[in-house]
Amino acid sequence: MTTYTPMMQQYLSIKSEYEDAFLFYRLGDFYELFFDDALKASQILEITLTGRDAGISERIPMCGVPYHSAQGYIETLVSKGYKVAVCEQTEDPKQAKGVVRREVVQLITPGTITEGKTIDGKSNHYIASAEQFTENSFAFVYLDISTGEANSSIIEGGVKALLQQLQTYNIRELVVTEQLQILLAEQASQLGIVLSVEKEEMDTEKASPYLIHLPDALKGVAKSLLQYIERTQMRSLSHIQPFTYTELKQYLRIDSNSKRNLELLQSIRGGDQKGTLLWLLDETVTAMGGRKLKQWLHQPLASEDAINKRLNIVTDLLDEFFVRNELRELLKSVYDLERLAGRVAFGSVGGRDLAQLRESLRQVPMIREQLEESGKETLAALGGSLDDCTELEQLLSRAITDQPPISVKEGDVIREGYDAKLDELRFASRNGKDWIASLEQKEREITGIKNLKIGYNRIFGYFIEITKSQLGNVDLSRYTRKQTLANAERFITEELKEKEAIILNAEEQSLALEYDLFVTLREEIKAFIPRLHALASAISELDVYISFAVVSEKYRFVRPVFHGRRALKIVNGRHPVVEKMLHKQTYVPNDCILTEDKNMMLITGPNMSGKSTYMRQVALIVVMAQMGCYVPADEVALPITDQIFTRIGAADDLAAGQSTFMVEMLESQHAITNATERSLLLFDEIGRGTSTYDGMALAQSMMEYIHNEIGANTLFSTHYHELTALENELARLQNVHVSATEKDGRVVFLHKVKKGAADKSYGVHVAQLAEMPAEIIERAQVLLDEFESTSRGNVGEIKARETESELQLSLFEEVSTTKSKTPVLELSDAEQNVLQQLEKLNIM
Ligand code: ADP
Repeated sequence: MTTYTPMMQQYLSIKSEYEDAFLFYRLGDFYELFFDDALKASQILEITLTGRDAGISERIPMCGVPYHSAQGYIETLVSKGYKVAVCEQTEDPKQAKGVVRREVVQLITPGTITEGKTIDGKSNHYIASAEQFTENSFAFVYLDISTGEANSSIIEGGVKALLQQLQTYNIRELVVTEQLQILLAEQASQLGIVLSVEKEEMDTEKASPYLIHLPDALKGVAKSLLQYIERTQMRSLSHIQPFTYTELKQYLRIDSNSKRNLELLQSIRGGDQKGTLLWLLDETVTAMGGRKLKQWLHQPLASEDAINKRLNIVTDLLDEFFVRNELRELLKSVYDLERLAGRVAFGSVGGRDLAQLRESLRQVPMIREQLEESGKETLAALGGSLDDCTELEQLLSRAITDQPPISVKEGDVIREGYDAKLDELRFASRNGKDWIASLEQKEREITGIKNLKIGYNRIFGYFIEITKSQLGNVDLSRYTRKQTLANAERFITEELKEKEAIILNAEEQSLALEYDLFVTLREEIKAFIPRLHALASAISELDVYISFAVVSEKYRFVRPVFHGRRALKIVNGRHPVVEKMLHKQTYVPNDCILTEDKNMMLITGPNMSGKSTYMRQVALIVVMAQMGCYVPADEVALPITDQIFTRIGAADDLAAGQSTFMVEMLESQHAITNATERSLLLFDEIGRGTSTYDGMALAQSMMEYIHNEIGANTLFSTHYHELTALENELARLQNVHVSATEKDGRVVFLHKVKKGAADKSYGVHVAQLAEMPAEIIERAQVLLDEFESTSRGNVGEIKARETESELQLSLFEEVSTTKSKTPVLELSDAEQNVLQQLEKLNIM
């Protein structure tokens, strides 16, 4: 058997430790990939596949990328869910005996990548870890390596809730135990989430500074995440902050479905953020502020005091127009302090980064002054909390040039006067260069050749260049010929070479020294990381407050007030996003009054009249208010809501292949099992996905259940007119309808919500609006009159007419067809749940 060359043996030994990653093996100016890595990477990256002799009889597959452009290739692989182990030469090849020593210096994974096109300034980039806590809950921690922010929570609601959480925060990589990996493998891969197994935990002593806020249940999972990060990143984690612990009760909880239904951060149609609440609210001017706003939108508050504290600041900023504008201008010059701090910790910070840090710090005293001199207590307090990190700003001002280049190795980063030795070397090199300039002048005079010039290249060093046509005029004995070009000759002289040695030496030394100084400086700056984080946090909050004030003024929002009761009062409320999107038309404002003894609403009205918009607007007002923002209405008084559940959303927006009705039932089940009397429930067109009687029966039984067992503030919309009769049976239910009127035999939508039930279905008229043929319209009108005269009655009667078996059949039909054709992840577990829940609801 032939054996591999020593280098290949080294490669194989390193590769065996990184089976699940592409190994980028440094070989001179290239990173090379071999064997399967090469076969796969050449396809994914579209680079040429070649071969290499490796000691065995056949050549092995190989491909490579130049080291200076490797970043882009690495990003491509990582963005597709792969991992890349970067293996460097860790000794000088000149000194090496035998094969150059090589080590993996970083494992770059979808969750740990900190630079490049996958990282969006205004979004966090989290990696998470989860561990089964109880049968139905998970201990969950997540961390953004680029900013150092670390959080945790307990997730209730089983695997489904865990996966939802991952999607909500756009988490690409989850660190798990082997056991959990098996449990999650299939669903995670469907969602494009990479599962990485970590078998060890960071030792307690080392991890303890990060764990100070965590309850015991979360410590283990946090330690394994830290271990994973340390193992893969192999560098300082000094910028990672202690994990915060979010007790979910402190926040208004909105599940991922509802976040999507309400289009808080993503629009239902996907794509960009246009049309979302985030899009409307985001007037932040810093990347940090943008991220903070997203976090607040993910987790509005649920404590009246905390909300009012935010609102007080917004109120004061609204009062102080000039202060606000001034602050906003100053914030525009503040760079991403969190990510800069992250780069300092990682040792990847460059000269330009430090100039940005300095520029940002220079704004802080001015920001503080604006706040402190505003005459507003809340703003002055905010100002007082800002730490300008003066020593750091001074250090950077002394050390870094005004406009340093990106790379630290080109020089021109360290300012003159910072280090005497550096100044000396620079002086020597500059002096030499002046001397060369004067030599050029002198030589021109001696020879009389005007275009004689002194040039430099890396191979020959400095040279005197004379064009061929001029050669006859020169006394060549003074020169030594060095190089012949097509139309010129290059010469050197003794004197020129002597100077060259001095210049190059000084230059080389000065670059080396400059680099050393920079590295030392970078270490010094690390001490400021915690202070930079505190500053970043304060600045990003200020940015969000200002953003709230800006939108509140721009769109004429009012300050909401809170009270301890369940009642909810919105006078002339508007849906802020729909309002903004309406072009020439004006938005019709609507009240929503839920009182202690009438806190459920049944909304009827024709399609397209505005039922769903009305329901969403109530939810958005609650969300905005609990974020601490003003709200789109004339007057708003609210309870503190603990959770929002929605069953909204157009069937046609759902991914093809899913059973609409099953999704509807799952969402309803989730709401019904988790809601409390402090929750807000929105049910749009419940039961639409199944047969009429079936749907109506379900809708009624759910309403009864919510009324009798939960007591939450609830808005229901329906096109089953029969349901309006429930007002007589359920004491806390009130009917409202969205009015439409007929003009010249056509429907005109008024979008106005009024008391009482709609008295007539306008479906036929909508069909008319859609220019359905006249015969169909006329025939439908006749049929409608017929139906109305024969089948009007409440659901009770209708239910009695349906036989028990029929009803059961139709329900099970839906469920079983769903099961057979749908690859939806939640189904198997959840179906069980739904069925049980439906049994409890006692509708069969
Ligand atoms: P429904 O749920 O009753 O079918 P929607 O709520 O989807 O109706 O509303 C249909 C359209 O009517 C919306 O897309 C919006 O453009 C418009 N609309 C709804 N409510 C209002 C309003 N209050 N003022 C102005 N236009 C509205």
